[in-house]
Amino acid sequence: MPVIKPTCVRDLKLRVNLADVVSRMVTLRKAGGARLKGLCPFHNEKTPSFNVDPDKGFYKCFGCGKAGDAITFVRETEQLNFTEAVEALGKRFGIVIEYEEGSGGPSSADRTLRQEVFDLHDAAAEHFYQAFKAKDATGEFFQKYWTEKRRFTPELADEFKIGAADAQGSGLGAALLRRKFSEEALRRCGLFFIYDDAAITLHSLRPRFRGRLMIPIRDHQGRVCAFTARQTELTPDDDPAKDAKYVNSPETPVFTKGNLLFNLDRARTNVGDGKPFVMVEGQLDALRCWSVGLKTAIAPQGTSITESQLVLLRRYHTQVECFFDSDGAGQKAALRFLPMALKAGLEIRFLTLAGATKLDPDLLFLERGLAAYEEVKRGAQSAMAFACRAALPEPATASPELKSRAAQTVFEIVANAESEVARSEFVSEAAGHLRLPLAAAQKDFQAFLARLGRQAAARPAAPDSQPSTLNSPPATAHTSERDLLMICLHFENLGKAISAALPHEWIDTGHPAGVLLNRFLGEFEHDSWPGRDHLDDQLETPEERTLVATLLFETPSFDDPPKVAAEGLRQLRARALEPRLRQIELALANPRADIESDPISLLKERSELHRLLRQPIALAVAV
Ligand SMILES: [Zn+2]
Repeated sequence: MPVIKPTCVRDLKLRVNLADVVSRMVTLRKAGGARLKGLCPFHNEKTPSFNVDPDKGFYKCFGCGKAGDAITFVRETEQLNFTEAVEALGKRFGIVIEYEEGSGGPSSADRTLRQEVFDLHDAAAEHFYQAFKAKDATGEFFQKYWTEKRRFTPELADEFKIGAADAQGSGLGAALLRRKFSEEALRRCGLFFIYDDAAITLHSLRPRFRGRLMIPIRDHQGRVCAFTARQTELTPDDDPAKDAKYVNSPETPVFTKGNLLFNLDRARTNVGDGKPFVMVEGQLDALRCWSVGLKTAIAPQGTSITESQLVLLRRYHTQVECFFDSDGAGQKAALRFLPMALKAGLEIRFLTLAGATKLDPDLLFLERGLAAYEEVKRGAQSAMAFACRAALPEPATASPELKSRAAQTVFEIVANAESEVARSEFVSEAAGHLRLPLAAAQKDFQAFLARLGRQAAARPAAPDSQPSTLNSPPATAHTSERDLLMICLHFENLGKAISAALPHEWIDTGHPAGVLLNRFLGEFEHDSWPGRDHLDDQLETPEERTLVATLLFETPSFDDPPKVAAEGLRQLRARALEPRLRQIELALANPRADIESDPISLLKERSELHRLLRQPIALAVAV
């Protein structure tokens, strides 16, 4: 295992501004003082409770309790281990990472499989891109396909690293074997068909993609994690998916279809006031939007849009314009999308073109450029207008039964919105579109919700819907240990004195605060306290890291820290000694022959306990 030098980790933490790290994923706003605030990347929320203190280098979410520093943030948001997270930060901020001598430094065996599969995709994307650019028959075929058939520019191909897999899919296996990727990574990257028991050789790596245009799929951080492959005339007859226009990478350690939106890595930096996301159906639609200057377009991977994609989206912007094909399939996709979008708290509009029966974003933008976007924007429909039109195309002439049925369909969609205010507004808007009396619509909606509530109540609760108690221990428990821990972290000069005054056995080590207090006091006692900014080695579990980060993030409101420390010690002492005192009183009051029958020693012990409990607690504070 390569071990990064502690001095290097320390240096990195000093040089990296946490706000820069976090703002790659979270839009931050000022929140008083040096603090910043944004929507939490760890849980779904609509008002920001994710706080960042760049000066202290810590973040804390007051909604879900997640807390930590720059390294924790990268670990948790990018699923990396400690070493990888430090390396990623080093790379991003131009800090050279130094390793302990003899520990080896990074080697392919030490990288986790995920990281290796990412690296492998990077290499594969480069391989396909070079094949696309090559001045040979394959390269020329694909360049021509790109510019003449798809009518895209060569520059766009460069920008997105569009690639080509030749009819045999040859060369990729050899290129990756040369790069010495591990057998596990080659088996699980999804780029090859490999028989389970076959040894990895050039021959056993049968390419999944042949004779297809290769579009690299990047995750929201811009890492290539999969490919979409477009069928061409070169797609061979023995391709198992010969008739499929588009073939995607299968799910791999780095690719889950439902979690990914094409072009989100670029679009998220272009959204902002007046520039909402534009959701289109396919990758090539999104590329077309980009090519005409509409840089906020994204596309779901394959046909399904999932809730987790929308939660991801919501981190960056709440407004989404949907631009789906105006054919039946496109409309169905839009209707599937709507309830999930309302649930995620997204503000949705549907782009349509007045008078157009068939609307294909690719073709429209190709022919008319960005001007077409302005036009479809003008004809945009709100979520409710769209839903109502789908449920009841002709409200003027509809019978009461038809209207009532349409209202139920719309209610089902509206019920997904979590905000009461939003629901009520949706219902009144829908009543207008469906030409229903407002009061009646509202009453019907309440009845609908009541029915829904009864159904939900009849279902047993899902086990994962239980509130987690991990981050919220009862407020009253262990407050003394927590207070003392807080003092050790914020008033480090008191640590040694506390360690001298507090016997280990008074601390309840049945919870993280006690465990940490015990451990920290041990360090103070032995004069080996590393300082609060260098606690990495001291923290062994995620709970411990979270607790310390939380405490570091809080500003202690103590006027007189030594006094608070003394009070904490008094409470721990009382907790440790008083039960024994009560036991003795009881034994003295009810003398029984069998147990603790020696009153003299009981009396002695009692007076000793009284003495201890009365003893003033004074902290010998070194100044
Ligand atoms: Zn949170």
